Amino acid sequence: MRSIIRCVIVAVAAVYSAIAGAQTADLVLINGKIVTVDDRFTIAEALAVAGERVTAVGRNAEIEKLKGPATRVIDLGGRTVIPGLIDNHAHYMRAAEYWHREVRLDGVTSHKQALEMIAEKARASQPGEWVLVLGGWSEEQFTDEKRGFTKEELDAAAPNNPVVLQLIYFRIYANSRALAALGIDAASPDPAGGKIEKEANGQANGVLNGAGALRVVLARLGEVAADKMVDNARALMGYLNRVGITAYQDMGGRGTTPAHLDAFRAAAAQRHMTVRVFYNVFVEPMNPADVDRVVARIGELKPFQGDDWLDLTGFGENVYVPVTDNLLVAAAAPSAPNMEQWRRVAQAVADRGLHFNIHAQLTGTIRAFLTQIEAINQQKPIKGLRWTFSHLDQVEAADLARMKRLDMYAQIHSRPSIQGALMLKVHGERTYHMPPLRLIRDSGVPWGLGSDATAVTPVNPFYTLWWAVTGKMLGGQKVLEETIGREEALIAHTRANAAFLFQEGNLGALAPGKYADLLVLDRDYLTVPADEIKDIRPLLTMVGGRAVHGSLSP
Ligand SMILES: [Zn+2]
Repeated sequence: MRSIIRCVIVAVAAVYSAIAGAQTADLVLINGKIVTVDDRFTIAEALAVAGERVTAVGRNAEIEKLKGPATRVIDLGGRTVIPGLIDNHAHYMRAAEYWHREVRLDGVTSHKQALEMIAEKARASQPGEWVLVLGGWSEEQFTDEKRGFTKEELDAAAPNNPVVLQLIYFRIYANSRALAALGIDAASPDPAGGKIEKEANGQANGVLNGAGALRVVLARLGEVAADKMVDNARALMGYLNRVGITAYQDMGGRGTTPAHLDAFRAAAAQRHMTVRVFYNVFVEPMNPADVDRVVARIGELKPFQGDDWLDLTGFGENVYVPVTDNLLVAAAAPSAPNMEQWRRVAQAVADRGLHFNIHAQLTGTIRAFLTQIEAINQQKPIKGLRWTFSHLDQVEAADLARMKRLDMYAQIHSRPSIQGALMLKVHGERTYHMPPLRLIRDSGVPWGLGSDATAVTPVNPFYTLWWAVTGKMLGGQKVLEETIGREEALIAHTRANAAFLFQEGNLGALAPGKYADLLVLDRDYLTVPADEIKDIRPLLTMVGGRAVHGSLSP
C-alpha cells in the first residue's frame, strides 16, 4: 500500500514539475475535450503552446497557471480538438497546376447539384476559359441520377466555356466547346489508348473513353504561368486546411513535372506554407532505357535536406510503369522480364538507402513485388527504411506476414469511398474485404489511412475516417465489411501517419514537444453518430500554433 501511495506521489510530482517547468505560454486553449492521440489516447481539458509547439496538456487549472500577461486565450466552450490530420498519400502538387480552373465534386451526392456547380464556375469565368473536374467523384455517388453528363446538359450549364469532367482515370465527359477546343469532330481518329464515342450521325457525343483521352485533354490545357502556379499552391493548401489536413506525403503522379515542385518551393521560400509537405520522387520508366536513367538519378538523390514545411522523404510510388496495377481490372500477372526491370529500380533504391513507396493493389503484384524485395533484402537489408506498400486492396494474411518480416509499412486508402460500386462489378464479393482493414490492423504491420486524392478519391479526410468506420461509399452504399473503430481510425490518420513522413517526433499527436498542428471541430468525432463523421468540419485549423483557417470568435 505504502509503495502505491509513493508511486502516486511521484507521478503527481512529475506532472506538477513538468507543468511548473514549462515556459509561459503564447497561447492556451481551455475548456475543451482535447483528444491528444498520444500513446495512451489521453483526453485533456486544456493545452498550452509556446512558439510553434505544444508545451503542456492537462486540466484547465494546470494550464491556466502557464498564462502570462501576453498569453492569448481561446475558450473552446467544450469543443473537441484533435491533432491536424495527416494524409499519408496524395497528389496535391500535381493538382495545384489547374486548381484555379477546377470544380471539386467531392462528396456531392446530387447530379443536379453537380451541374449547378459547373454552371456557377462557368458564370464566374471569362468566356473560353476551361472549367475542369479532374477526378475525385464517381457516377455511383449520386443518389438522384447515377450517371455521367451529356454534351447537351453541359452545353446548357456552360454555353461559353469548354467543360471537361475526368472520371477517375478512364473517361472524359466534354461539352461542345471543349470538343471544338480539343479539335475533335466527326472525322477525328481515336487517340492512342482512347476512344471517341460517336452519335448515330457520326458526331462526337462528348464521351471520350480510356486513359489516352485524358492525355489528349491535358495536353491541350496549356501551360500555367509559374506565378499562377504558386497562387494555386497556396489556394490548394487553404482548401486542405479547411477540411482538416495539416501535413501530407506527396506521391507525384502521372504527368508530374518539376514545375509542380517549383511552385511549392516558391511558396516555402515566401513563407506561405500552411500545410507541411513531404514528397517522394516520382518517375515513369516505360522501358529498360528509361530504367537506366532512373537508376542513375536514384544514385544522386539526397532526402531530408529541407525543413519541417517541405522536404524530400524518398522514392515512389511508381517503380516500373508496365507492371503498375489498376484496381479496376480483375487480376495482375507481371511478366518476368518486366519484373527484372522493376528489380533494377528497387535495388537502386536499396543501394542508396532510401525510403521507398510502392504502389501495389492486387494479389498478383503484391506477391511478385514481395518476392523481389525479399531477395534484395538478403543482399542489402531494408530494415529501418520504412519501405511501404501503398493501397494493398487485395493483401492477404500471408503477404502481411512477409511484410512484417521485412519491416515494411502499409498505406491504406479510401478508394472504395467513390469506387466501391465499380469494384463490386470487377471483384464481386471480395470487394467487401478490399482492403481487409481488420486483417491489416491486427497484423502488426505499421499502417495508416490516407486518401490517394485528387483523381481517384475526394480530398476530405473525414470522408476517409467515415468510410473506415461505416464501410460506406459516398451516396450511402455499403462496400466494405471490415470496418474499424473510430479511435483506431483516428490514430491511423494522425500518429501512425507521422511515421511515413519521418516526423513522429514532431507530428501526429498533441503532446509536449510536438508542433501545435490541431483542429477545433464543429462536433465531437468520438461521440457523433457514425454517419455524421463525414460532415465534421474544422471551425479552426492551426499549423505550428498559427491559425490557417477559421476562428472561434462569434
Ligand atoms: Zn497514388
